[in-house]
Amino acid sequence: MPMLSLCFTQEDCEAIMSIPLGSVVHLHDHKYWFFAKDGKYSVKSGYWVALRQCMGAIMEGGSSDTSPQKLFWRKVWALKVPNKIKLLVWRACSNVLSTSLNLYFKRVLQTPLCSRCGKSEETALHALRSCKRSRKFWNLTPFFCRLDAYHGSFADIFETATHVSSEQELKNFAGCVWLSWLIRNDTLHEKESGILGEAIERTFEFIQSFQQGNARCRPTLLPHHVRWIKPPHQSLDLNCDEAMVTESTVRGLGGLFRNQDSEFLCDFACDGPAGFDVLGTELAAMREGLLMAS
Ligand SMILES: [Zn+2]
Repeated sequence: MPMLSLCFTQEDCEAIMSIPLGSVVHLHDHKYWFFAKDGKYSVKSGYWVALRQCMGAIMEGGSSDTSPQKLFWRKVWALKVPNKIKLLVWRACSNVLSTSLNLYFKRVLQTPLCSRCGKSEETALHALRSCKRSRKFWNLTPFFCRLDAYHGSFADIFETATHVSSEQELKNFAGCVWLSWLIRNDTLHEKESGILGEAIERTFEFIQSFQQGNARCRPTLLPHHVRWIKPPHQSLDLNCDEAMVTESTVRGLGGLFRNQDSEFLCDFACDGPAGFDVLGTELAAMREGLLMAS
């Protein structure tokens, strides 16, 4: 009653107090899982709640909120780099990378120490920048000078980078973060990462070609009247296409056959011929399909 009188008028308080509680008063408190219809927790419902929260954090950059945090995420998600690079940056900034420290908290590992140097707890910052092995990598990048000037957590460092870098620099920086994590994983799994300098060059080329490919392959909406048409009686439907990393390197082609009911029959995939452009490689895919049909 004292709390009610703080929020409501005397008249409203009396009205509220006159509401009968019925049999509820005889029930004991019990736990109720809000996200399930029956109020009972299940791993499945917990998973979906966690996923929604995670996706909510990911999509924060898309809102009209202009707080520094939201602007930062908006910059990250607007980067024109492959999604796997953006996702790695997001995981590192959100401290959900599978570092030794995080795995230790989850009781997966016995120690939070870095598996590579064994000298410090492996946080995202240590794994991606501070570990002796990571520093060796960064010293080969264009960012080795300025990286030491950045302070704080990994998220702080990346946020600073978003303020002081050009768009291209930020994309390359994100690519180096991704490569740093890749090299760290290769070391843990005793895989050979190759020559670091070449790996860095390839990463920059990868980002560059992604941007070009993105511009070239930006999807166009098909007009509504385009529909799949059944092939004539006793005929097959052949769908084929090509894929290429850059215009001068690896390319592939493939296709599949379907019957009149659009049911899958068989498919093919192989390397594309060198030196062909997009149209040439698509024609090669068609030729391959026709040869297979014959
Ligand atoms: Zn280390």
